[in-house]
Formats: sequence, structure tokens, C-alpha cells
Amino acid sequence: MTDILYTLGDSLYINLTNRCPCRCSFCIRKNGSHVGSAENLWFELEPHLDEVLAAFDGVELKNYKELVFCGYGEPICALEKLLEVCHLVRSRSDIPIRLNTNGLGDLIHKRKTAHLLEGLVDTVSISLNAPDEERYLEVTSPIFGPGSFQSMLEFALDCKRFVPNVLFTVVDVISPQEIERCRALAQEMDIPLRVREYIKEY
Ligand code: SF4
Repeated sequence: MTDILYTLGDSLYINLTNRCPCRCSFCIRKNGSHVGSAENLWFELEPHLDEVLAAFDGVELKNYKELVFCGYGEPICALEKLLEVCHLVRSRSDIPIRLNTNGLGDLIHKRKTAHLLEGLVDTVSISLNAPDEERYLEVTSPIFGPGSFQSMLEFALDCKRFVPNVLFTVVDVISPQEIERCRALAQEMDIPLRVREYIKEY
């Protein structure tokens, strides 16, 4: 049985897909099969939309601080389901909604995607991961290759137009000097940067 919804701290998390175009050096998926209250986040078959929506039956959304799209894959790979979940949740509650993403939605879907989040998602947390394209490709290994870093940065700028809160994250698997360069880049783009500690297991 694979968990679609799980909790971590005071937040409700949603696992929509195991698809992801990256192979990040720090990816938590390498270390196990679960996070927080989940027992297993690997799908044998990715859930259909009706299964995803049914997972919310009986869930008291007001009991949680926020709903976070995260899980064991890149949520924006399951864009249609993500948007439908947002509509369902918005119709039932004003719980804040956050999307944790690698920021490669435009490359995944071969079109602009940030505007689709308008009015649905409160916060987009984007994995900056590195201060420049060369290091980004080393740390993240996106299947799209060169151009991925730039596309992620453009997605972040687009998000600023459509989503109230946008932030970057880096994991401290890169050097302190590189983290400082990430900080400077984030500042230049007027996007807050959160430095995350590398954690093997949650
Ligand atoms: S983008 Fe996220 S899910 Fe994909 S490999 Fe990187 S850390 Fe793992």
C-alpha cells in the first residue's frame, strides 16, 4: 500500500508521483521508502485522479498548518492532478498550499507553467541547488541537460508574478562558498533563500 497523504510535523503532505527528471546527489529517495508518517512512498502504479481525490475523504484540513506537494517524485510531473487537488482543497478549506518543486515544470511540459498556479498555490519552494549551471548539472543531473538551470531560474521569476510567496532552497551538500554565491544570486532575483541541512531520513 502506498501513501498518497502523510504527515510531517504539523503539515499534511501529498505524494502524487514517483516521476522526476532529476537525479539529485542528496535525494532522500536513495535512503529508504518513507518519510514522516508514511510507510511507503513508492508506487507500483501512479494513482489515478479519483484515487488521489478520494484520499482526502474524511481528512480535516483545518487540523494542519499547510498542505505540501512533495513526496517521492516531482509533483509538477503530475500537473493536472496537482491542479485538481488544489481546486478540491480550495473548495473545502483556506489551508495554505505549498509546492516543493525542482522548478523544471516548463521543460517537463514544454510550455510555461507558473501561471497555472495562480490563485491555487500560496508558496512555491524551488530547489536552486547550485550557484551556476555547471554545478547545477553536477548536483541535480536533469535529463534536459544544459539550459535546465536557466529554465529553473525563469520559472522562479514567473512564479513571483503569480504566487504570493516564492523561495529558493539549497542543501548544504555544496560548499559554503557556493552557498554564498547562491545567496547572492537569490538576492539579485529578490527571492529568499533557505539553506537546508542534508538529512538522510525524516
Ligand atoms: S528533484 Fe527532488 S525527487 Fe527529483 S531527484 Fe532531486 S531531490 Fe529527488
